[in-house]
Amino acid sequence: MASFLKGPICKACGQQHPFCSEESELQPRREYEYVCPTNGQKVRILTDKSGALVRACPTGSVPVKALSQNW
Ligand SMILES: [Zn+2]
Repeated sequence: MASFLKGPICKACGQQHPFCSEESELQPRREYEYVCPTNGQKVRILTDKSGALVRACPTGSVPVKALSQNW
């Protein structure tokens, strides 16, 4: 299973990326890190809601990594 989240506005490019994690469930008010697909910058986000469980990450979704492990 994977966790999919239509994320907050990207600080690096101003767009909204579809985020996805295959290793952990995306939870609200947690910090995640990803590489912006538009300009390659590393960005940290604070989620505002939980991810939706999906069978696999959709094509084009941006993989995120949890920065804290206390979930
Ligand atoms: Zn971006």
